[in-house]
Amino acid sequence: MQTQRAYYDVTSAEPYHAAIRDLRPGREEPDQIAVILDTTIFYPEGGGQSSDRGTINGIPLQDVQEKDGDILHLVSARDGARLTIGPAELVLDAQRRRDLTVQHTAQHLLSGTILRLTGKPTVSMRLGEELSTIDVDTPHVPEETILALEDAVAAAIEANHPLRIHCCPPEAVEDFPLRKIPPKGAEVIRVVEIQGYDFSPCCGTHLNTTGQIGMLRILGAEKYKGMTRLTFIAGRRVLRDSRLLRKQGEISSRALKVPVAETGSGVLALVEKAGKLDARVKELEEENARFKAEALLSKAGLPIDAEAGKGIILAERIPHAGMDAVLPIGRAAQKLTQAVILLAAPQDRKFAAFCSAKGVDIRGILKDPMEAQGGRGGGGPSFFQGVFLTEEALTRFLEGLPRTC
Ligand SMILES: [Zn+2]
Repeated sequence: MQTQRAYYDVTSAEPYHAAIRDLRPGREEPDQIAVILDTTIFYPEGGGQSSDRGTINGIPLQDVQEKDGDILHLVSARDGARLTIGPAELVLDAQRRRDLTVQHTAQHLLSGTILRLTGKPTVSMRLGEELSTIDVDTPHVPEETILALEDAVAAAIEANHPLRIHCCPPEAVEDFPLRKIPPKGAEVIRVVEIQGYDFSPCCGTHLNTTGQIGMLRILGAEKYKGMTRLTFIAGRRVLRDSRLLRKQGEISSRALKVPVAETGSGVLALVEKAGKLDARVKELEEENARFKAEALLSKAGLPIDAEAGKGIILAERIPHAGMDAVLPIGRAAQKLTQAVILLAAPQDRKFAAFCSAKGVDIRGILKDPMEAQGGRGGGGPSFFQGVFLTEEALTRFLEGLPRTC
């Protein structure tokens, strides 16, 4: 005997008395047990709506699926072992059901409104735990249309249109101006009507009036397979979203010292300022590196002259500096002399060498001495870098280098 469906009538968390008819191993999830009831208050996943949650004799439901005419209430095998055939107390997670019902009814209203305003049909929909989406058969929905849709939906919510359910044989559905094609092969078609506004075949759960939706917001529109995917939230989700945005807005407002309504332009101004500061810092770093490079050459008695110094090798340790500090100095020095400049960062056990003189290949000068001390590295004719296993090996490498090339 088929399970009686009471899920359209039961929407509260009041305990409902039914009976467990059968307990079966979960077919696809072996760690689940499928509970078969004589009557269920739990909506099985279908028509784009998720399955209900709740408890059967205190055991939490993990999922509800309809298969071959059976409604399978899936619980974990461990919990399910405590269930027996006989009387059962069913408790619906009414808050979750209410939320899904609100999103579902809102989807009907939104799809119906889009069809009325733009003539474009909704091709598919998904009701998510956080966000829901519909795919509309149009390549683009402009910003002003989105605002017009939100306003029209708000007006339909305020008008508090009643919803009506018509269960009729397939041949009778032609009497309704349906927004989408009804399922084939069904004995009874369930037509959901937002009175005088929208007609759609649907097996999901719905509110009694559009006013119960409360509010609907479209959060975004993106291109999807030649269509437009609209993301929306409704009911309490709008309240939660508004609280979240207000909170973030207030944090930004305090930090930027501007009213909440001006935080967007405040952030843009801040980003522009930060970009300018970054550029200035880079300039100063380059300037600093050039001063250090000049000091290095002066100390070694080399002229600061981009045409002079060819054939000289200047090797220097830069104490307490990592390679990130050493590299800009080397790059700056390269512009001030033709000499080979080799700078070592002892704390990293690394070195980098630079040379701007034409005809000089620093690989030929550095590779063998480096490898002789167990170092590894590489580079090109004008830039070469390497690393040693110990600081001592780096020191021996530096001490063993020739002074000219
Ligand atoms: Zn529906």
